[in-house]
Amino acid sequence: MALDSPRVAYFCMEYGLDDALKTYSGGLGILAGDHLKGAHDLGLPLVGIGLKWKQGYVQQQIDEDGFQVDAFPTYHYPDDVLQDTGVEVRVTIAEDEVRCKVWKCDAFGNVPLYLLDTDLDGNPHRWTTGQLYAGPEGRRVAQEIVLGIGGVRALRALGIDVDVYHFNEGHALLAAFELAREKMEAGMTRDEALAAVREQIVFTTHTPIPQGNETHPIRRLMYLGADAGVMDAEAFRQLGGDPFNMTVGALRMSRIANGVAQLHGETANKMWDWVDGRAPILAITNGVHPGTWVDEEVDQAAQDGSDEALWAAHQANKRELIEHIEARAGVQFDENKLLIGFARRAVAYKRAMLVFEKEREIAPLLESGRLQLVFAGKAHPMDSSGKEIVRQLVEMQRRFPKAVAFITDYDMETGAKMTRGSDVWLNTPRRPKEASGTSGMKAAMNGVLNCSILDGWWPEAVRDGLNGWDIGGGFISPDPKVQDDHDRDALYDVLLGKVIPTYYDDRAGWIEMMRRSILDTREPFSVHRMLREYVEGMYARQPVEA
Ligand SMILES: *Cc1c(COP(=O)(O)O)cnc(C)c1O
Repeated sequence: MALDSPRVAYFCMEYGLDDALKTYSGGLGILAGDHLKGAHDLGLPLVGIGLKWKQGYVQQQIDEDGFQVDAFPTYHYPDDVLQDTGVEVRVTIAEDEVRCKVWKCDAFGNVPLYLLDTDLDGNPHRWTTGQLYAGPEGRRVAQEIVLGIGGVRALRALGIDVDVYHFNEGHALLAAFELAREKMEAGMTRDEALAAVREQIVFTTHTPIPQGNETHPIRRLMYLGADAGVMDAEAFRQLGGDPFNMTVGALRMSRIANGVAQLHGETANKMWDWVDGRAPILAITNGVHPGTWVDEEVDQAAQDGSDEALWAAHQANKRELIEHIEARAGVQFDENKLLIGFARRAVAYKRAMLVFEKEREIAPLLESGRLQLVFAGKAHPMDSSGKEIVRQLVEMQRRFPKAVAFITDYDMETGAKMTRGSDVWLNTPRRPKEASGTSGMKAAMNGVLNCSILDGWWPEAVRDGLNGWDIGGGFISPDPKVQDDHDRDALYDVLLGKVIPTYYDDRAGWIEMMRRSILDTREPFSVHRMLREYVEGMYARQPVEA
């Protein structure tokens, strides 16, 4: 039964629908892909707008010394994945007229996704849609011109009528100026047009990390043509400061905004408290698409099967993961030994190395094979501390060749296999920096027990010792060293005192926890619940009277 909703155009820089389409980097894109699939399941009148990346996000390779090498192979997307709509729109980048070809993708059980592409013969700035989150800073603005301004023009050229524009992250903000330009062409003043546009926009903010909220000098925005002929330097400054903060601009250009978990909603409200005239920020916790991420046999067995059936279904997934680890990392794991998974972007606040830091306690467990650890995660090409984390993880595999594996080039296939086949899903961010974290939801729904800091979505789901474990009780310190020391101790207490004994000495108790984990999360953290909240709280909200 279709869910009643206004018509929505959803804008995002990246979409993770399938590994056949290299148009994603990580969590933001996977969420966007699941949003489009869930919208399709629910019959929502929603279309996606994005970019057709020629080389996608960085491909991770590891050299002989364990360092990440960044590769950017060119992808040729098959015809059964992308269709040519025959539509082309134009945008202006640094006074050059740039053609954008519009492709359509609906091959993965998703509502239509329209992808703009500048890689055309003779086109100026054809590299604009070359690489996701790489290249010079000016190119990012050019990409945002194509996504925002080009995206609105594509909707017009395709004849798609829209009531609400959903900006997933601030990257899409320039669409607001194109919408204002249209209204000014129809006779409104700039102020009237911007006020009217604000009533059509809803915005999702994704990160409490200050550097994750992109800024640009206003000169750069003006020079490249991000103003859409609507904004001038002073208007930009009033909207988002100088340097211009895209998140602040989007918070002021939307009628309502949201964070992506309950805790993140609070964090975002504090973080953006100083922004006057901004939209209210709600909290809508992310969800995942069950059809993509949940193993049906495990799900069935959790609902009406015996303990044996649930365990057998899990072990089958574990064997698949073990084969994948052998194929991709060359490490042979044992299905009868505890296997802990950790897959995240390699970035300092996620603290991938925390679990190794009490050497005297962890080394014997790894040497005896009682504990097996599998990691995956890419560092951003410009993040040297992230690359150092990758190097250290690879070094751990070399030190403990039977018990530690690092799978290179984390992608959706590895994500799915790890969140189905691990026994435990480890998550150790420095609270409250993890906005949501959807991989833990995938794991929980597959009976993979979360062992996590109380951050992101986890405080909403955890029943400590019943459906997973809490590490650290929500501790926060202004001194990161104090916080790390505290959390390291807490992690070892849980690991040695609870996780390992339960796994080896109380299998029935473990299976009971798996069942609770699945039953507690399969509906509350599904993308269908999330979409209902978007429809009610964001899309269908009546415009506020001026
Ligand atoms: C689910 C998923 C993510 C997002 O997970 P987080 O918990 O937010 O890190 C990122 N990348 C891939 C490949 C995924 O499958």
